Amino acid sequence: MHILLSNDDGYLAPGLEILADSLRENAELTVVAPDRNRSAASNSLTLERPIRAQQAENGFYKVDGTPTDCVHLAITGLLKKEPDMVISGPNDGPNMGDDVLYSGTVAAATEGRFLGYPAIAVSMCSYEPEHYESAAIAVTKLLLSIADSALPKDTILNVNVPDLPWHDIKGFKATRLGARHKSEGVIIDKDPRGVPVYWVGPPGDEQDAGEGTDFHATKNGFVSVTPLQIDLTRYDSLKNLTTWLGSI
Ligand code: MN
Repeated sequence: MHILLSNDDGYLAPGLEILADSLRENAELTVVAPDRNRSAASNSLTLERPIRAQQAENGFYKVDGTPTDCVHLAITGLLKKEPDMVISGPNDGPNMGDDVLYSGTVAAATEGRFLGYPAIAVSMCSYEPEHYESAAIAVTKLLLSIADSALPKDTILNVNVPDLPWHDIKGFKATRLGARHKSEGVIIDKDPRGVPVYWVGPPGDEQDAGEGTDFHATKNGFVSVTPLQIDLTRYDSLKNLTTWLGSI
């Protein structure tokens, strides 16, 4: 098996090397990652300039683009051999509920769905993780048995791992996305010339975080695994919408 590994925290992120070392035990591995932190890049592609990919000293390809650029160019031009699967992460910080819409980690996995293999995004439930090895173990366990999963081939698995030693993790839980309250407001500051600047504030607290959600599973010591799809259509509104539009 040939795995393409990417992330959104950049090619020097400490977790990336730990996951890469672990994946190499079971698969051929190519790492293509942004040359800097591109967290919250979502599914953006770079269209207004060419993208450069260089092999770094650690053997990883570093790309001056977004996580989506990395996977896109890897699959469609850079790699001589097509991968069988895309894995993204481990991210520093959780990607649960509404986070998945902004996440570059999830976006890199999403871009991998073109391959027709389940892609995996993995995130640590801490912004300063100490137990990346737990993410590596969780991903390896999923990987080695994914052939038995009976999941549709374009499913994206969004995995969130409590920042605990593996022996303190209680197991895997299948979850749905929870939801957050609206995010905190921007933080307003001034540049040295007195011009106002704005820092995007932190995400909101958990709102829909009951049993069955990703928030609930990780809070209770489980690895949360949420199956994601790309179709954002709100099917239960189609009927009312059709009636309404017919009356306009
Ligand atoms: Mn990140």
